[in-house]
Amino acid sequence: MSDYTIELPLIPLRGMSIFPYMVLHFDVGREQSIKALEEAMINDQLVFLVSQKEAEISMPSTEDFYHVGTVAKIKQMLKLPGDTIRVLVEGISRGEITSFVQEDPFFVAEVEEKFDDKVATRQGKALMKTVLDSFEEYVEKNPKVSPEILVTLHEIEEPGRLSDTVAANVPLSPKENQELLEAFDSDQRLEILYRLLLEQIEVLEIENTINTRVKKQVNKVQKEYYLREQLKAIQKELGEDEGVVEEVEEYKKKLEELQLSDSISEKIHREIDRLLKLSPGSQESGVIRNYVDWVLNLPWNEETKDKLDLKKSAEILDEDHYGLEKVKERILEYLAIRQLSQTIKGPILCLVGPPGVGKTSIAKSIARSLNRKFVRMSLGGVRDEAEIRGHRRTYVGAIPGRIITSIREGKSRNPVFLFDEIDKIAGDFRGDPASALLEVLDPEQNKDFTDHYLEVPFDLSNVMFVTTANTAHTIPRALLDRMEVIRIAGYTEEEKTRIGQNYLIPKQIKEHGLKKTNLRIGEKALRDLINYYTREAGVRNLERQIANLCRKATRRIVEEDIKSVTITPGNLSRYLGKPLFRYDMINLKNEVGIVRGLAWTSVGGDTLSVEVTLMKGSGKLVLTGQLGDVMKESARAGISYIRSISDRYNIDPTFHEKKDIHIHIPEGATPKDGPSAGLAMATAVISALIDKPVYKDVAMTGEITLRGRALAIGGVKEKVLAAKRAGITKVILPEDNRKDLDEIPENVRKTLEFVFVEDMDTVLQHALVKDEEDEN
Ligand code: ADP
Repeated sequence: MSDYTIELPLIPLRGMSIFPYMVLHFDVGREQSIKALEEAMINDQLVFLVSQKEAEISMPSTEDFYHVGTVAKIKQMLKLPGDTIRVLVEGISRGEITSFVQEDPFFVAEVEEKFDDKVATRQGKALMKTVLDSFEEYVEKNPKVSPEILVTLHEIEEPGRLSDTVAANVPLSPKENQELLEAFDSDQRLEILYRLLLEQIEVLEIENTINTRVKKQVNKVQKEYYLREQLKAIQKELGEDEGVVEEVEEYKKKLEELQLSDSISEKIHREIDRLLKLSPGSQESGVIRNYVDWVLNLPWNEETKDKLDLKKSAEILDEDHYGLEKVKERILEYLAIRQLSQTIKGPILCLVGPPGVGKTSIAKSIARSLNRKFVRMSLGGVRDEAEIRGHRRTYVGAIPGRIITSIREGKSRNPVFLFDEIDKIAGDFRGDPASALLEVLDPEQNKDFTDHYLEVPFDLSNVMFVTTANTAHTIPRALLDRMEVIRIAGYTEEEKTRIGQNYLIPKQIKEHGLKKTNLRIGEKALRDLINYYTREAGVRNLERQIANLCRKATRRIVEEDIKSVTITPGNLSRYLGKPLFRYDMINLKNEVGIVRGLAWTSVGGDTLSVEVTLMKGSGKLVLTGQLGDVMKESARAGISYIRSISDRYNIDPTFHEKKDIHIHIPEGATPKDGPSAGLAMATAVISALIDKPVYKDVAMTGEITLRGRALAIGGVKEKVLAAKRAGITKVILPEDNRKDLDEIPENVRKTLEFVFVEDMDTVLQHALVKDEEDEN
């Protein structure tokens, strides 16, 4: 290797490199580079070409290009339109910059030229052969490279020249090119090249397999298309139109059989006739067929005959449901009225109650007792009118709304149709589903209910609609006005136990394919299941947990080959894991400022402890814990009342200026009826102010007015049951709630003392510990 240095103008290349022996043209546009070119032309036409590290940089500095490049001779220059020059150059030798002579207005560098040895070493010869062989393989696999190049290569004897010529014919990345340029030793260069060639071959092989695969797929698609076209032609030759004619005939026959009204019949006729004019495979004829199928398969005339036998109905309701006496009675009355006056359309039944209290199942029983089909549609989250009334046929993939869909599924035009969760219906920009529903439920209008998709009216007046809701509050007023609301409260532990024993357990045992003797769930275990594994007004989760036990029992019976499994309070957690719930029990002793309130929550009743602390201060009222705004209002009313009676109870009349009152209701169940904690909060504040404890086994609920009157509240049954469960013995209720006592099961009522109050005074008499007892 004999090297020497020369001074050369330098041109940075973007995204390309040039090897010695390689002839190549590129375009020069940058002013700096043009000046370098001009300089070269004045002298010996030699330039130094280096690659830029990043092609994007337009004004490179000395750091932005590699310092190893190629000394090249300019062979030709051609001016292109715009200030661009096309240059043809030939690579002469490698070179490395030793220093820069100038950077402006163009680069001039001191370059040390690197020349290859002309004769190959023994190792070099071997390497040359390997590279040649693999290049041959590469050419074989790459149709884009002309094999003629191989002839030239075989004639080359210098290792350096061979490697550079091969490299010039393989599409390498700028980085790989640079790696080869920087390998001044020709043997080393051949080695690198060999590795790169192997990589290229591998890439080609992968490409080839992918290509063949894609080609096969394309061929298949083409073939199918071709066959289809042929098939079409053949069908045409055979007079396939006859198929359509037959189809149309069949449709018309069916249509006649349905004996629809003239106007409907005419419209469907027209649709069917359109099939004749359309190509049978076309999208449009598909749409029409779909439509005609929908119309012809609706139960236009199919109906069940009502069996109106009140005694039988009563039996069926009892058979399916424990308790619910009032509900059953109202339903029987409702059925009786329908029986009497079939022409006068009664209101629509709306069963309101928390989840799992049997609303759906009552509706099913109604259907069963009338011998009607039962269909159900949930309105929860329905916000688009189209869900009720369907999309117009112009929509791609349109189908009728869910009412017509359900009617078709029910295969009867007079089913019992249950709208579930009517309180969850929502309206938005896509129209008002509630008003569509109103039309459906209105006996005046539902005779001609027209689904957007069907475009012909379907008579819904024979359908018996029943609705359900969790609360009546959120049902749109107009809908509520048309309905007869029947409320189903939650069940007591007692009722749940009976339902479990007599209905849910036998039902689940049967559904799991077990025999009665296989699984025994004792009453105590059932009660624990109710109290500690579920917290709900209904029995839905109870049923789920029972199903759970059935599964676990089945598994044991199969796996351990035993005959029966008995569930006891002791082994319950073995099957179901740790208890999921616990209830607050009464306090251990009478305490100052702590009162047990009663709350009505979405899952039944619960007790809630109201705690009051007084601090020196400036009359601030601080409320923390589970307190909604309504509760705060109620607390303020209580305080105002206390101020007005302060003299009677020896309360410092200026307490509201000197003391901060902190009311806390610990987290727990979320009460739904804020104001009903009014009495309890006022009692707790007074107890704290006069430093007198409150009986631990007294619980109370009721709203308070500014004058200390007790106002009626809701959810008495649930609240009383919660009090009982917590170990309370005396329950204070507003006088106006006396009437609700009927709802409470006899056995619970007997074990509790009830006090009905009209004002705070009476509450305090019963809640505050008497002086003589306090001394104890
Ligand atoms: P809802 O529609 O009110 O949410 P479901 O009708 O789905 O409640 O009732 C849940 C389950 O509880 C059903 O299997 C139902 O048969 C049962 N169930 C509810 N109430 C009673 C009852 N009083 N007697 C017997 N089973 C009941």
